[in-house]
Amino acid sequence: MIVPEHIAAIQPYIPGKPIDELERELGIEHSVKLASNENPLGPSPKALNAATEAFSTVNRYPDGGGYHLKNALAVKWGVRPEEIILGNGSNELIEMAVRTYLMPGDEAIMATPSFVVYDSAVRAAGGISCNVPLKDGRHDLPAMADRLTSKTRLVFIANPNNPTGTIVSQAEVSLLLERLPDNCLLIMDEAYLEYVTYPDFPDSMEFLRQGRDMLILRTFSKAYGLAGLRIGYAIGPGRVVEAMNRVRQPFNTNTPAQAAACAALQDHKHLESVLEMNEKGRSYLEDELNRLGQVFLPTQANFIYIKLPDGFLSESIYNSLLRKGVIVRPAGPDAIRVTIGLPEENKRFIKTFEDLLITPQ
Ligand SMILES: *Cc1c(COP(=O)(O)O)cnc(C)c1O
Repeated sequence: MIVPEHIAAIQPYIPGKPIDELERELGIEHSVKLASNENPLGPSPKALNAATEAFSTVNRYPDGGGYHLKNALAVKWGVRPEEIILGNGSNELIEMAVRTYLMPGDEAIMATPSFVVYDSAVRAAGGISCNVPLKDGRHDLPAMADRLTSKTRLVFIANPNNPTGTIVSQAEVSLLLERLPDNCLLIMDEAYLEYVTYPDFPDSMEFLRQGRDMLILRTFSKAYGLAGLRIGYAIGPGRVVEAMNRVRQPFNTNTPAQAAACAALQDHKHLESVLEMNEKGRSYLEDELNRLGQVFLPTQANFIYIKLPDGFLSESIYNSLLRKGVIVRPAGPDAIRVTIGLPEENKRFIKTFEDLLITPQ
């Protein structure tokens, strides 16, 4: 079989190394994974209970409409259930939006580096990705707006951005929306929303209330700690959600995931302790990186983008850390992305990283 050219051009997604795979390969134990922005505290015990209970009904197909979860989300965000669509992780919603709106030859605008799934979903659909470089580590929305053409159907903004943790402001998004032509959808990927502390963070729900063509992506994979269950959601105008439902597989989200997500939404205490730990971890890591004279970007998420000193390559630092049982993520040739972990995991990273900076190996 010949692989079509536009499929062969897709960069395969390289997931963060699973811990047991690394330990098997290197014959080591007690390694820490700070590579996939997972929640090191795990999900709410209430969510786990709900999922466990739901397993007794897995002989039945799930509720394809996600009635209970959509209703709970509708109450939480002050929208109608018809303005919400559930996905098998928000990754699936990215793909659904692309399949709904992008025809072969159409264009999608995104930043680089940003979440790589945008590019692969667009290419898989035969679309054209317009990759606009970040400016000083942040989305350059004026430059992205300059790339709008009559063929542009989608614009992706990850806010906060992955891998940099940086954000765009309400004013910047407003200006972009002013320039957005008809027949073009702005996708705001807010996977890390819960972690944000910055006061001027864009209120994307307000844009929706103004009737803008915007789709907001959210997930239970990060702050809610349910990455392995695969559940996310999108909020958008009813007409957008209705169109996307046409391409959605009827049973795309499973019963335990829906039950766990419902319960997770109710457990405010657990979420608070997750966010508190992340804040403490962030300030610890920032203090330590400053002490080591390292350059990093200001993060609003649960990870930190560290620009390596001159002469250090991300691949070699990544591999050296790996051999010491610390899994991070290379981010381009000269930076690494480190997930904020448990206090002892953060300490372990700093200690190992510091040793490598003194005696590279
Ligand atoms: C982690 C992440 C997601 C979440 O994907 P899921 O499919 O919901 O697990 C989405 N967008 C960005 C930018 C992310 O970093």
